[in-house]
Amino acid sequence: MEWCKARSARGPLAPPEVPRDARDFGAALTPRNASSCAQDDTIHQEHIESFQEGPLPTPPHGFDSLLNSPLTFIFSMKVLVLGGGGREHSLVWKLRQSSRVSQVYCAPGNGGIAEEAECVPVDLKNIDSIISLGEHLRPDLTVVGPELPLTLGVVDEFARRGWPTFGPTRAAARLESSKSFAKEFLQRHRIPTAHYAICDSTQEVRSALSHFHAPIVIKADGLAAGKGVVIAASPEEALQVADEMLTGKMVGAAGARVVLEECLKGDELSFLVVSDGERVAPLVAAQDHKRVFDGDQGPNTGGMGAYSTPNIIDDQMRDWLVHHIAQPVVAGMKAEGAEYRGVLYCGLMMTARGPMVLEFNCRFGDPETQPILMRLESDLLDAMQASVNGGIGGVDFKWSPDSTVCVVMASQGYPGAFESGRKITGLDEAAEIDGVKVFHAGTTKRDGSFYTAGGRVLGVTARAGDLPAALQRAYEACGKIKFEGAHYRKDIAVRALRR
Ligand code: ATP
Repeated sequence: MEWCKARSARGPLAPPEVPRDARDFGAALTPRNASSCAQDDTIHQEHIESFQEGPLPTPPHGFDSLLNSPLTFIFSMKVLVLGGGGREHSLVWKLRQSSRVSQVYCAPGNGGIAEEAECVPVDLKNIDSIISLGEHLRPDLTVVGPELPLTLGVVDEFARRGWPTFGPTRAAARLESSKSFAKEFLQRHRIPTAHYAICDSTQEVRSALSHFHAPIVIKADGLAAGKGVVIAASPEEALQVADEMLTGKMVGAAGARVVLEECLKGDELSFLVVSDGERVAPLVAAQDHKRVFDGDQGPNTGGMGAYSTPNIIDDQMRDWLVHHIAQPVVAGMKAEGAEYRGVLYCGLMMTARGPMVLEFNCRFGDPETQPILMRLESDLLDAMQASVNGGIGGVDFKWSPDSTVCVVMASQGYPGAFESGRKITGLDEAAEIDGVKVFHAGTTKRDGSFYTAGGRVLGVTARAGDLPAALQRAYEACGKIKFEGAHYRKDIAVRALRR
């Protein structure tokens, strides 16, 4: 067992000053003690050693420079997007707006994506299936949507073949695929995060629990599709949950190791940056709604809605997050031999002790990507190519001052068991509303009609001059769309309206 708690007497690093205006975000933020675990300067050598793999073979000579050259601007590019949810629909939608993209493929895509891209079958759980697809299509750029192909090493495999791919390598994707790795990395690099303990047995959990106050967060180490985090109200419940994870009853092999964490209080923030392995460029921030029911009640989901506004954080806070969280992560990964390229999603809690990292995702968030990309006015392809080839510092993102909202419509029973195959009506009427775009997450099309084909079905996204107007448009569109058992939260962004 390894554990880390605040040791205020140790470590030379005072946490960086949180900008004054940042304290307006959520609970009153103070600049003191922004880091707790970050004060332990122990470096865990075994994790550094696991990065000592040889460098990947470089792409064919001249390819990189060609992509970076002005010639790029006369290319007609074929882009392949891997994935088939709402995030991928919004990526397809945005990439199609690039004057340099002539064709977009999506694998496997879904019913709605098929209206805007050529959908091709693939088994995203099988790396050979993805490689065969790459061999067949030979895309000029592949964009990896979900985490699983990244952790299977799709970027490594494509890079070996000289196929430009947007996303981190398997080693870099450990920031998401192993929560214990991420926690130890944060500790090594003194980046603020919650106190934690890493346990491999129920016995270790029992002894670690004495260092925590309830409620206690228990996390499965591996990927668990949003089901691997439980906030336990008491040590007894924490022990029971940890035991169920460790014995494989709750989330299978992902729970063979667990991380206990102090429960942080504050507002959550999704802060995404694009990295070229050296530097980062921030996207506009967003806020997600994880719980299934209004008022943040019920179990966690993949995300029931998100919004982005120009004032969700101010420029000072954005710069603080870049300089004290995102940039140190990218520098730390490079120093450990696992250069991080692609999107780095920092899931943050804005606490009274300052912003703290809850989790990393090594890809775009879903549903945050939908409202974020709806505010992007420049070419997403520029940033993706700069991430692959270097030079992200030269990318000039242009953002709309509008506000955007995404409301997820889900199948009855989601996030538990749900049934598919329900006919969806009203999509055309919803699309007619000014500023509305309906992204498909789990749909299929048969005989000219759309049917539900997943837990999260649609991401009804709207843009307007301010947040109330964007909400009004999004909910008006939701009201027009019908399918049996449909449910959605009615309080997306309501807390932001009150701020
Ligand atoms: P999975 O691995 O199952 O996909 P995940 O990656 O979504 O889960 P996290 O983002 O770490 O897991 O946690 C999910 C949610 O749990 C967070 O969005 C947050 O609401 C809550 N959470 C996680 N850690 C903490 C914490 N230390 N304190 C308070 N809430 C937390």
